[in-house]
Amino acid sequence: MDAYQHYAEQLAELQAQNNYRRFKAIEREDSGYIKLSPQAPGAMLDLSSNDYLGLSFDKALLEEFKATYGLPMHALGSASSRLLTGQFEEHAKLEGLLAESFARAALVFNSGYHANIGILPALTDEQSLIISDELIHASIIDGIRLSKAQRRRFEHQDLAQLEQLLLEAEADPKLNKVFVVLESVYSMDGDVADLQAVVALKQKYPKVMLYVDEAHGIGVYGERGLGVAEAQGVLPQIDFLVGAFGKAIASVGGYLICAPVIREYLINKMRPLIFSTNLPPLNAAWTYFAFKKMLGMQQERAHLQGLSRDLRQAILAKGLDCHSQSHIVPIIYGANQLAIEKAATMQGAGFYALPIRYPTVPQGQARVRLSLHAALDWQQLEPLLGYC
Ligand SMILES: *Cc1c(COP(=O)(O)O)cnc(C)c1O
Repeated sequence: MDAYQHYAEQLAELQAQNNYRRFKAIEREDSGYIKLSPQAPGAMLDLSSNDYLGLSFDKALLEEFKATYGLPMHALGSASSRLLTGQFEEHAKLEGLLAESFARAALVFNSGYHANIGILPALTDEQSLIISDELIHASIIDGIRLSKAQRRRFEHQDLAQLEQLLLEAEADPKLNKVFVVLESVYSMDGDVADLQAVVALKQKYPKVMLYVDEAHGIGVYGERGLGVAEAQGVLPQIDFLVGAFGKAIASVGGYLICAPVIREYLINKMRPLIFSTNLPPLNAAWTYFAFKKMLGMQQERAHLQGLSRDLRQAILAKGLDCHSQSHIVPIIYGANQLAIEKAATMQGAGFYALPIRYPTVPQGQARVRLSLHAALDWQQLEPLLGYC
């Protein structure tokens, strides 16, 4: 008997459900166009990446970075965790920039995933309660699972239900800490959290601390691009402000903005930080460079907001279902098969958009997700409306 047969059967089932995943060979063309080789002939406008400022293909920026950084001998590998010998000047400089920009302590991790699977398990114990929005990212769900904390969920963006849970938690003498966990921009619906309202709740309930993941907000929102928390004027009130460099910053890595004592505590207790080789110095240097540029990209942010609003309005005007409030614009079609067909039609017309199906989103809410960036213009996008 084949020991692997079970896995082959599971895969066959996924295939039967139209849910089989595979890597694609993608060729990158200039300025945000991609080719799917070898099957598809023409270049398609990439509407599926998370590169919200278009930095990953900004040639002038890359040239400037190459000219300023050079390539020191130590750049390509850090050779150990940060607590052994893996800490380089580049990492310290990046954390310094973050700390200065957010006016609080900053800690950098190898990815947003590392941040989310490490922070909550380090900070919580059996007397902690984690209350999370039901649509938080898989990495935070895994972090909650790895923790010893008790856990509750509230329906997506339902702050009345959240307050009910907070009331109960406040009255429970066995609980000494309550962590409310949410995202600022949700990537499957493109909706944006009301962080001001959540902060108002925190101020009513003394045990509460706020944990907000800004993976899709950093670079895009706020005068200096520091995220939705900056745009809504609540940066200092978010106890644990998490983000990732893989999206608008066009790099890789994760970060936490927090109180200095929390930073020190995590350096001593957080397993993915202690037991994983640090990012290459090259990466930290590029992140530093791109983040610094990002701080001044007010025009790009304003352009992206305008473009997103125009696209959302045009989609609604066609009678389609879309409740996005951001630069991530999903069109909800309902049935898996319809979303698959619509995405194929858009791709055939030169727009690389992808269907999102159950189990990533609830049954009957399959969608095609359009992810915009600041280097796009309306002339490129408008023809897409003929294929929605
Ligand atoms: C992408 C993402 C992450 C993971 O970040 P990586 O740096 O890609 O590992 C975490 N949280 C959210 C909300 C994300 O969208």
